Amino acid sequence: MTFSLALTPAQKDLVERTHSFAEDVIRPVAAEYDRKQEFPWDVLEKAAAEGFYSPLFYRDLIGDPTGLSLPLFMEELFWGCAGIGLAVVMPALALSSIGQAATPEQMLRWAPECFGQPGNLKLAALCISEPEGGSDVRNLRTTAKRDGDEWVIEGHKMWIGNGGIADVHVVNATVDPDLGHRGQALFVVPGGTPGIELVRKLDKLGCRASHTAELKFHQVRVPADHLLGGDDKLQSRMKKAREVQEQVATGAPRRKSATLGTFEQTRPMVAAQALGIARAALEYATEYANRREAFGGPIIDNQGISFPLAQLATEIDAARLLTWRASWMAAAGVEFRHGEGSMAKLAASEVAVKTTERALQTMGGWGYISDHPVEKWYRDAKLYTIFEGTSEIQRMVIGRALGAADGAPPLHFDQATEGTAFNRRFGRGTSVRTKAGEFAMSMKDRMPESAQRLAMRVLAPPKK
Ligand SMILES: Cc1cc2nc3c(=O)[nH]c(=O)nc-3n(C[C@H](O)[C@H](O)[C@H](O)COP(=O)(O)OP(=O)(O)OC[C@H]3O[C@@H](n4cnc5c(N)ncnc54)[C@H](O)[C@@H]3O)c2cc1C
Repeated sequence: MTFSLALTPAQKDLVERTHSFAEDVIRPVAAEYDRKQEFPWDVLEKAAAEGFYSPLFYRDLIGDPTGLSLPLFMEELFWGCAGIGLAVVMPALALSSIGQAATPEQMLRWAPECFGQPGNLKLAALCISEPEGGSDVRNLRTTAKRDGDEWVIEGHKMWIGNGGIADVHVVNATVDPDLGHRGQALFVVPGGTPGIELVRKLDKLGCRASHTAELKFHQVRVPADHLLGGDDKLQSRMKKAREVQEQVATGAPRRKSATLGTFEQTRPMVAAQALGIARAALEYATEYANRREAFGGPIIDNQGISFPLAQLATEIDAARLLTWRASWMAAAGVEFRHGEGSMAKLAASEVAVKTTERALQTMGGWGYISDHPVEKWYRDAKLYTIFEGTSEIQRMVIGRALGAADGAPPLHFDQATEGTAFNRRFGRGTSVRTKAGEFAMSMKDRMPESAQRLAMRVLAPPKK
């Protein structure tokens, strides 16, 4: 599937349906949920009734070969409210990890448990980060030890979306600490399993409608088949990791891998969420600046107001293009050799922070108070340069990819071409076409006008 900016009819409908949902259902209640810091159960029910809260919906969007459906959906939903948006899509985050690690049987078993049914909704959580550090995932301290037919999980998790209230906790734990992240595995811990302690719900700056918690796992026992991917796969991965360690210990050079982790594939989704906030703020600020008058005219007539907004409009579109490209790459199975997923997340999250700050400034005192949603968007946006990999970590990934690429040219140099041998010989920009044009020009005084036209057609722009 080639990359295309043209939407399919189904994608256009998805955008419109999600936008209406964000405008009519989410926006009217967003400020209230933010103020009370309450979980938006009734919005989740409405999202489920609309079909936006189901594993099949997300599998369907992930399976879109154009890659655009999921970022389109995310941008519109989060245009409504990022806190409520996170509450709606949190199970999809857990599902995506299950999808990457689980056996097909495990996927079938746990995916419905992450969402439930309208009227009986369930929640899921992805538990990776720990109080001692979220960025350095190699050093996570939660452990999983095998005891007969069970795994025993012990540890402490921090900033966990839906933590402690989820029906399914997907928990990252270390089986062999000497192997870094290769010695870690994901386990499903059902809500209510003895030993899970919800230490506290966290009091957040923004995205306050989503539930984020500190959790402890005290000798939590789960059956052996709750290890995602199964024991054989884990043992074989750890065996390979030990072999590499031994080779490195005996002086063999450590291989530089250009293949970036699966995070690269999920980062565009988070980027699209940030774009939703950025766009909301830009639209709001622009409308305000058109109507607000100072010194005898609308404030947008001042370049001091319009230029920063123009710059942000440009940066938002650039970030969206990066996001769609990365999402298309994930769908098309194109390798993320240059950190393209991280580029999307970095650009979108940074522009969301800049746009909300500028929107607030554009509105002066009105931006600073909660009569308008801009101060909330300003608080919400900041999360995006922190979670799912901080901006520094995105730069680190891109920087490492640059190092590994060692001066290699950008993505399109590596891409397989599409088209016929005829195109290679006679397509636009080929020397044959240039020569034909030059010949036609040199002959122009000796040719009848009709023949000239025919000859020059080769260089004419395509007809609309
Ligand atoms: C509201 C919220 C929701 C979250 N939801 C979840 C969730 O559902 N599940 C989950 O598992 N986690 C979640 N997180 C955790 C989030 O992913 C982490 O906070 C994030 O990865 C950063 O980890 P940290 O906070 O420990 O910061 P640290 O890793 O301690 O980093 C501190 C600072 O140092 C910088 N830094 C670290 N290493 C380097 C380096 N090598 N070079 C340069 N700078 C560096 C960082 O960029 C950051 O600025 C959430 C966090 C928040 C705030």
